[in-house]
Amino acid sequence: MKRRPPPRVYAFTDIALAAYCPRKLYYRQREAEYEPPERAGFELAFQYPSLLDPETALDTEPIAVTPVVYRRNLGCSKARIGAFEALCDPTDRGVFLAGRRAWGIAHKVLKTPLAPSIVSVGEPPDTGVWESHAVRAVAAAKALAFERETSVERAFVEYATHGVIREIGLTARRVGQYRRALRTAASIDGPPPRTRNTDKCGSCEYRAQCGVRTRSLRSLLGGR
Ligand code: SF4
Repeated sequence: MKRRPPPRVYAFTDIALAAYCPRKLYYRQREAEYEPPERAGFELAFQYPSLLDPETALDTEPIAVTPVVYRRNLGCSKARIGAFEALCDPTDRGVFLAGRRAWGIAHKVLKTPLAPSIVSVGEPPDTGVWESHAVRAVAAAKALAFERETSVERAFVEYATHGVIREIGLTARRVGQYRRALRTAASIDGPPPRTRNTDKCGSCEYRAQCGVRTRSLRSLLGGR
């Protein structure tokens, strides 16, 4: 009987890119070396108690909103997220996890509840989390569950420069998004079509080779 090849294993970041824009993943995979950009504000995710303290001046912190809005957002996150205290004092940070289908770094790992957290320095959506962040968080949760041989029911995404923390459950919908992104990553063998959501292209470092005209460029050309 012909044996099936073992399933390929992907980096959390590649699975997230597959969810964001498969074509971007295609370009990224072809780079000999990729230097991730500086993540100004990343450390804010490890300073919440001090950032909530009214004695702390936020003006010089690398936050993306006004100090008033930042503190309000963080206060709401504290009130809403049951694991807020655990996120302030995580059991581990920068943990390498290797699962059955995915590997990568969880920025925080909590013991109670057992859960990974992914820190982003980007802007949060109005509600929930961006799909690429959800996919990355689910990939980390699945890898954590695999390593600890137990179930992991939730994960967190922290939008550190906005003071916004969101919790996601490993629901059938979220796991479905993760599996779809895995299949997408596995199926890339040539340049996939461009994303239809051109809002994603404005900040994409592969714009030039991709040949995408962003909205601002189009408007500069008078909409032609
Ligand atoms: S420019 Fe747009 S379509 Fe092209 S790779 Fe980047 S995000 Fe994808």
